[in-house]
Amino acid sequence: MVEQHTSPRADLHTHSTASDGTLAPAELIARSARRGLRVVALTDHDTTAGVHEAQEAASRHGLHLIPGVELSTGVPRGELHILGYGIDPGDRALQDEIARFRDDRVLRAGRILDRLDDLGIELDRAFLDRIGPDASTGRPHIARAMIEAGVVTTVSEAFDRFLAVGKPAFVPRAQVEPEDAVRLIHGAGGIAVMAHPFSLPNPDEVLQRMVAAGLDGVETYYGEYDARQRASLQAMADHFRLLVTGGSDYHGPAFREGRELGSVDIPQTHLIRFLDRLGLPNPYE
Ligand code: AMP
Ligand code: FE
Ligand code: FE
Ligand code: ZN
Repeated sequence: MVEQHTSPRADLHTHSTASDGTLAPAELIARSARRGLRVVALTDHDTTAGVHEAQEAASRHGLHLIPGVELSTGVPRGELHILGYGIDPGDRALQDEIARFRDDRVLRAGRILDRLDDLGIELDRAFLDRIGPDASTGRPHIARAMIEAGVVTTVSEAFDRFLAVGKPAFVPRAQVEPEDAVRLIHGAGGIAVMAHPFSLPNPDEVLQRMVAAGLDGVETYYGEYDARQRASLQAMADHFRLLVTGGSDYHGPAFREGRELGSVDIPQTHLIRFLDRLGLPNPYE
């Protein structure tokens, strides 16, 4: 099928200061409007604390805001992130569970900081208190504190030298089963999508497992993926008749190449089909 090329209308994967992004929800929406986007999904890690502010900003700017969330789960060979779209932020079971995930994140951050102390890198822990009560704590917050302290110069350097798997300050997270994440998202009325599948060494195997768990879609048009990777995910999605989504995984300005807000052009037919499942209008009309 020949796809009509227009400028991107949607970004379905973004983070705000409610998790590890650097723009407040309203700033993220204002920037999206300036970029000409019609639809934005806010998909903060383990929290929906930014949704209300984003929703208000979206109505001011005439944009559609999709309430979302990104849940981190454990699989045998790595971490699987699952995006939930169109969830009801008022869903009790979802909120209770992600509140527990956030508590685990705070404990984990403390343990990472202990490791850094042992390595002679003693950071002022006040930055943890500046993360809002319903916001989620992540390694990027620690990375930024390390920059502040002059230990490293970039977030990537902090991960590469200290925070990534296998590095000296790495602490594993409490394992969440991906099937449980899909169940939580569905229970809250949402659509479950496998995020950035190539973060895993065996995406096809994991996808098969997740299809059995009721997965609805695959993030195929991911900012950092090249044409070959996208084609391979598209083929898997077609095989399992899954929805196809895409997004930049925006975490703020100047984060990484391929990760700028609204930089991913999701093919029109896939975007329309996905939005239709959420009851949203065609953004090309
Ligand atoms: P956490 O949620 O605490 O496990 O931290 C994972 C988050 O850190 C991801 O969502 C990314 O935002 C960020 N991240 C992971 N790896 C890197 C990396 N190599 N460089 C920069 N940021 C990263
Ligand atoms: Fe993140
Ligand atoms: Fe992710
Ligand atoms: Zn993300």
